[in-house]
Amino acid sequence: MARNLLARLRETMARATAPLAELVPLVAAELVTEVCSVYALRPGDILELVATVGLRPEAVGRTRLRVGEGIVGVCAATGQVLNLPDVQNHPAFVYRPETGEELFVSMLAVPIRRAGRVVGVVTVQNRLPRTYTADEVEALETVAMVLAELLSSLGVAESAEQGVGRSLPRRFAAVPLSRGIVIGPVVLQGMPKPPRKLLAADPNAEHARLAEAMQVVRAGLDELIAARVSHHATPSGTREILEAYRLIASDAGWLRRATSAIASGLTAEAAVYRVIEETRETMRRVQDPYLSERIADLEDLAFRVQAALEKEDARSAVPGAILIARRLGAAELLEWHARGIGGLVLEEGSAGSHAAIIARGLGLPLASGARGLLDAAEEGEEAILDAEEGALILRPEAEVVQAYRRMLADRQTRAASWNALRHCPALSRDGTPIRLLLNVGMPQELDQLDATGAEGIGLFRTEIAMLAQGRILDVGEQTALYRRVIETAANRPVVFRTLDLGGDKLLPESPKPKQENPAMGWRSLRVGLDRPAFLRRQLRALLTAAAERPLSVMFPMVATLEEFRIARGLLLAEYDRVQPRPARLSIGSMLEVPALLWQFDHLLKEADFISIGTNDLLQFLFAADRHTPELFTRYDFLSPGILDLFDSLRAKADAAGRELSVCGEVAARPLEALVLAALGFTTLSVPASSVLPLKALFAAVDLGAFRQVLATIRAAAAGEASLREPIANWAREQGLPI
Ligand code: PEP
Ligand code: MG
Repeated sequence: MARNLLARLRETMARATAPLAELVPLVAAELVTEVCSVYALRPGDILELVATVGLRPEAVGRTRLRVGEGIVGVCAATGQVLNLPDVQNHPAFVYRPETGEELFVSMLAVPIRRAGRVVGVVTVQNRLPRTYTADEVEALETVAMVLAELLSSLGVAESAEQGVGRSLPRRFAAVPLSRGIVIGPVVLQGMPKPPRKLLAADPNAEHARLAEAMQVVRAGLDELIAARVSHHATPSGTREILEAYRLIASDAGWLRRATSAIASGLTAEAAVYRVIEETRETMRRVQDPYLSERIADLEDLAFRVQAALEKEDARSAVPGAILIARRLGAAELLEWHARGIGGLVLEEGSAGSHAAIIARGLGLPLASGARGLLDAAEEGEEAILDAEEGALILRPEAEVVQAYRRMLADRQTRAASWNALRHCPALSRDGTPIRLLLNVGMPQELDQLDATGAEGIGLFRTEIAMLAQGRILDVGEQTALYRRVIETAANRPVVFRTLDLGGDKLLPESPKPKQENPAMGWRSLRVGLDRPAFLRRQLRALLTAAAERPLSVMFPMVATLEEFRIARGLLLAEYDRVQPRPARLSIGSMLEVPALLWQFDHLLKEADFISIGTNDLLQFLFAADRHTPELFTRYDFLSPGILDLFDSLRAKADAAGRELSVCGEVAARPLEALVLAALGFTTLSVPASSVLPLKALFAAVDLGAFRQVLATIRAAAAGEASLREPIANWAREQGLPI
């Protein structure tokens, strides 16, 4: 039946001048019902009768129901099919006299859904009590799909495009991880799109197209799995996930449903879309994390099948778009960056995640923790990403967009004035020089040295390039990379930090138990010390790359003096073996594990320089995971205890005549940077995007005066958890650009 119906719908739509009016009698005749009506969603969540056969024609355009009101309203509100043999006695029934509806006893109401949102309702009614058969329900569901496209193409329901409750702006709170503001259309990572063509003339041809597309997708997955397996650096779990995809790709259940949808007259892409929509609807009602993961897998798969069907390059450019994704790997982020996105929002992700580090490096605004956003957003909708206040505004009002545009224009003017600072040294208003260095990790970021006028690279995170490639680079590749860094930096200093990889990302070929606390697990230098050959390869690459030029190497996650000594010994052993040797070799340590604080005096004697990694140091001092958004604002660097600690470290380093810098994220924030400078930390290593704003800030501040203010604030402190407010008040009074 459905196939016949679809064939006739196709003919009608091809020639009709008023397709909606012509479509309803066709459906009524096919399903043997006395009534067929279509309701479209209007602004303010109102459903309006836009076509009917069987109800009084004058009701068209007049009968309106709120979402949730009456059977039609309930169908729209819940998104569920209502199959009612005795509608008049249903508690939700409301009687509208203009329709003449009192004659009809049974009713079938099916939501019209587009891209997962209800945009209207189609109903059939009969005089006699009856329950509609499963075949009839399916036929009306297919009609609803056709109607979704028809309403959209006719512009009958422009507001309905947004779906129930979706025409309104929506604000999602998110944690800002890489600062910036973007206004643009959203793109959704790997979400299937509504098909362009719904109805097909020749089901056999569609079956063949689906089979061919599935072949392409399966081959693609096989290739991906093979490539991953041959790279030893695959994060554990990836392979299992890909295997699960492969299983889903051959799963008979959804294929069978797609095949039967094609048999009923849909195109292959419409059939795939329909199956995914149905599954999404079923799964949505179940609040189960496992199932929601499965639906994400299915969506991704459907997206791939659609791309294969449309033989479309899924990687086309999306300039200035805001990417919305559940989570994102380093390589994927680089891919999206190449496609031109202007910023991104993740449902899951943290300040220390690699996506965040890379986004900061690329200057891409990023916010995370916007749960539910992927479900709420539709491809192409306008949005504002405010990765400063921490918000994503979906479908913003025109006034809000204008206000943001004005703010961006002001910023551009300000940035132009910052640009003038590019060639100026960083200097406070009262003449204290500040050394601003860069935190980088990818070759693409090296041009930031010239762009910002930074004095050098204070932290080159060597693991980033490897994470971006998804594998450990061999000695030759590493040497080439480090050489490129040293040469681009020319005579500016570079501090290379040895690999700081999490345990599970390093050597997947050596099976080990899953770590309960990877941040405190087998990671970073610990791996290097347990696999000295591995660390030595990296040290050799660094020494070779430096050749006769000076070389600075820093070890991360040093927890004991002994660890530093062993690591240093490995470096010196390699140094003895290479020829030529660097003109000067400086060996430094990060201070990011609290235990090392109590060996700081010794460390000052043995390390050539020390850099404080506040990201890790603070997470361990406060026992507050740096990846947990709920904890981001709970503890403050600007607290009396932490400032006392930093003060004493500074005093000891000065007494020992050792360089002590800060390379964690706090150094990049205006107030924190001011406080650090006032405490005497005048070497700060920060992401590129912070260099010019910090130069502007320092140029405006009388650091001597602030030092006294800070001393007074600290002296007056009486057990507060944060001194941020009085410090910020002073900065505001001074008109500082914070
Ligand atoms: C830190 O911990 O502060 C740091 C700079 O290192 P990473 O963020 O790479 O752990
Ligand atoms: Mg660290």
